[in-house]
Amino acid sequence: MGEDYARTLQELERRFSTEQACREYLFALRWPGGFLCPRCGGESSWRMNRGLWLCAKCRYQLSVTAGTVFQDSHLPLTTWLRGMWHVTTQKYGVSALGLQRVLGLGSYKTAWAMLHKLRRAMVRPGRDRLRGTVEVDDTDWGGEEEGVIGRLTEKKALMVVAAQEDGKGIGRVRLRHVPDLARLSLHGFIRDAVEPGSTVRTDGLNAYMGLQGCIHDRQAQRDQPPGEHLVPRVHRVVSLLKRWMLGTHQGAIRHDDLDDYLDEFTFRFNRRTSASRGKLFYRLAQQAVQVEPAPLSTLVKPQHLGNG
Ligand SMILES: [Zn+2]
Repeated sequence: MGEDYARTLQELERRFSTEQACREYLFALRWPGGFLCPRCGGESSWRMNRGLWLCAKCRYQLSVTAGTVFQDSHLPLTTWLRGMWHVTTQKYGVSALGLQRVLGLGSYKTAWAMLHKLRRAMVRPGRDRLRGTVEVDDTDWGGEEEGVIGRLTEKKALMVVAAQEDGKGIGRVRLRHVPDLARLSLHGFIRDAVEPGSTVRTDGLNAYMGLQGCIHDRQAQRDQPPGEHLVPRVHRVVSLLKRWMLGTHQGAIRHDDLDDYLDEFTFRFNRRTSASRGKLFYRLAQQAVQVEPAPLSTLVKPQHLGNG
């Protein structure tokens, strides 16, 4: 299958007007090379009633949504696909309240859970790592200056950011919420985010020393000309990230949820030059059928019900 996606909302509405149409679409995304039984590896199947497929070899019955982010959801797939459309076609994304309104969902909690499940499908750890020359630096989130109120100000959350060099510009990025700036956290992030053999540029922080598998370009701020940043790309990404967190999400982001937001930011940023928003929808749908399910019980409960 080529990159098969709707170009407009009307096209989406027309095409995905029934559960069966949605299932057929997800089926083609999940098994682009044709059906493959997860139990016996059988390659032929029959379509049954109620959206189930039957493996012709071992008779295993499975739903196209089993093992994906759509598993165990009570929402119709028609609603999920519309939700994915709204998440991907808005330039800065959509808040849970915005999603609840546009989809006419009964509760904020339902919209919130949908959004979080989708975020988990946005970045695939260990895939599409950065390469070439990559800047790495840390930043924090959650101070009074960022408009976060009440007990959220107690402690700042730490994040590490990697930005790939692309001429004078920025290529792709990776971000992670880390518990500390110790060696284990920083090296672990770099190992997951950067392709071995790449050049990693950092500041002089001792914890970066001894990086394995890459060329370490360790710089000291004091050697820089005045006004020049050591890792300007990371610096720029951090300012865009904070603007997005404060704008679309009004700063109402709990530390426990931070990784989900970082994944959404990464997904958007890495596809910011994509000519078609429909393509983002396609990519998200494709990744949504490839990841493990995230049951609601493993997600942190929503607490802030303001405009977030
Ligand atoms: Zn089978």
